[in-house]
Amino acid sequence: MPDMSRSVKMRSWYLFSDLSKILSMAAQPISSEQMRCGIEEAKSRIAENWHEVRASVADAARAAGRDADSVRIVGVAKYVDATITQWLVDAGCVELGENRPQSLIEKSGVLDGPIRWHQIGHLQRNKVRRLLSAEPVIHSVDSQRLLDEIHCEASQQARSVDVLIEVNVSDEDAKTGLPIEQAEAVLRQLVESRDSQSGEPGARIIGLMAMAGWGTTPDQAQRQFAKLRGLRDQLQTAVGIPLPELSMGMSGDYPAAIAEGATLVRIGSSLFSGVLP
Ligand SMILES: *Cc1c(COP(=O)(O)O)cnc(C)c1O
Repeated sequence: MPDMSRSVKMRSWYLFSDLSKILSMAAQPISSEQMRCGIEEAKSRIAENWHEVRASVADAARAAGRDADSVRIVGVAKYVDATITQWLVDAGCVELGENRPQSLIEKSGVLDGPIRWHQIGHLQRNKVRRLLSAEPVIHSVDSQRLLDEIHCEASQQARSVDVLIEVNVSDEDAKTGLPIEQAEAVLRQLVESRDSQSGEPGARIIGLMAMAGWGTTPDQAQRQFAKLRGLRDQLQTAVGIPLPELSMGMSGDYPAAIAEGATLVRIGSSLFSGVLP
């Protein structure tokens, strides 16, 4: 007989984790005065969290029969201000993700270190021009118009910009990302009409990104990640370009994503546990 109490408990846990996700996305980044602990403790918590997450990512890679360094960790710093983000960089995390382009631009102007920036949240076309000066990888390309804008702006600024196409693999209407059926057309248009995959200025598509839907169990999330990998394999063959990067997996589901081939995991809350209020 199935254990009903466990499944009810699980379901309410997912509901709770969704609520906290929604709240944390809406909230302003916290400053050091708002932390749950003092400054020195926060610095060491963040460093410990970073080492734990790295070890756990490496374990998940090995369990999947993959090289530990085939998975890069993008530290998602949207929860905290620039000062606290710097402590994460000092701990060794130099690939940083931001949800809002404005935060990425601001932090890129003040943080210190060999940082590679990643724009992971929704991007409006009117923010592209300023964003490109931080030379980010853009994970969240979810329309032909946005891709066109990035390509055009990058060409004008004589930059080569790595982008990922965000795909909706969760069957939810409200989710961000291109419908699966449109991904091929978007790829083809860039590849065929512009010949921009060669390192010339412009947008260069390096892979696909997805988020598991709200309220998915780890098993459901893993099936969605498998779907993204399958789509990637299919598009590589159909369009004839390499798509080596798969950006999938967050704090709650990265082992499943790594099992399905993630090369970039976007991890935020686990890195700040014990620090966020
Ligand atoms: C916030 C966010 C993450 C990180 O989520 P955590 O659960 O805090 O690890 C990853 N990807 C995107 C697009 C996000 O907005």
